[in-house]
Amino acid sequence: TRTPFIAGNWKMHKTHAEAAAFIAAAKESLAATQTVEYAICAPFTALQAVADAAKGTAIQVGAQNMYFAEKGAYTGEVAPGMLQALGCAYVILGHSERRQYFHETDDMINKKVLAALAHGLKPILCVGEDLEQRERNLTNEVVAVQTEDGLKGVTAEQLADVVIAYEPIWAIGTGRSSTAEDANAVIGHIRQVLARKFGNEAAGTVRIQYGGSVKPENIATFMAQPEIDGALVGGASLEADSFVALVQGAQ
Ligand code: 13P
Repeated sequence: TRTPFIAGNWKMHKTHAEAAAFIAAAKESLAATQTVEYAICAPFTALQAVADAAKGTAIQVGAQNMYFAEKGAYTGEVAPGMLQALGCAYVILGHSERRQYFHETDDMINKKVLAALAHGLKPILCVGEDLEQRERNLTNEVVAVQTEDGLKGVTAEQLADVVIAYEPIWAIGTGRSSTAEDANAVIGHIRQVLARKFGNEAAGTVRIQYGGSVKPENIATFMAQPEIDGALVGGASLEADSFVALVQGAQ
């Protein structure tokens, strides 16, 4: 009974004008799919354009990062309230590219998760192991720590607004996706971690997405798995036709 959720993570792609053109091209076909929730996570500079173009549709808007403070002397950062004021529903937090290139730690990501929830933004918390960790059989341990530390101080009630994205780093942008069975097993493990911390009922309602080289050709295979509730998609979310096909394939 968890509603499937497809989120496009555009990463550092598209001007505001290109973003508006994407929404114009996708919105009619998207409207035909009513059993799937979907969101576009755009760069900060395109959020307003996406929100305007998506008005009156079921397309939800998400950011890809934010800072945790309310406001202040943090040059270059964007506050939770600013995203909320733009009409963002979601914010991706702790993406592996943020952890890797911008040195985000579980502690910082946890502060961001709490700040997002306090401002009515739903965090999409990203977790996942790198290739070396996978080869050393550390996957379950790594995702457990990232999940527990990322959600410190979150209540069972707030958990209903949290989405988790399991993205094995070696599968991101490589064309080498996890097998659906492997992804399902890790996601099942993440759900057990949630159940231990928040109880079975709360854990059972959380959407957990898979991410890493998802495309229209393989989305159905992932969605057929019982623990996988959707996908966080990079490259294949950049073309309107492809995003529409992903949403249709998640039904
Ligand atoms: P790709 O779909 O391009 O592999 O990217 C996955 C990802 O990192 C989504 O957040």
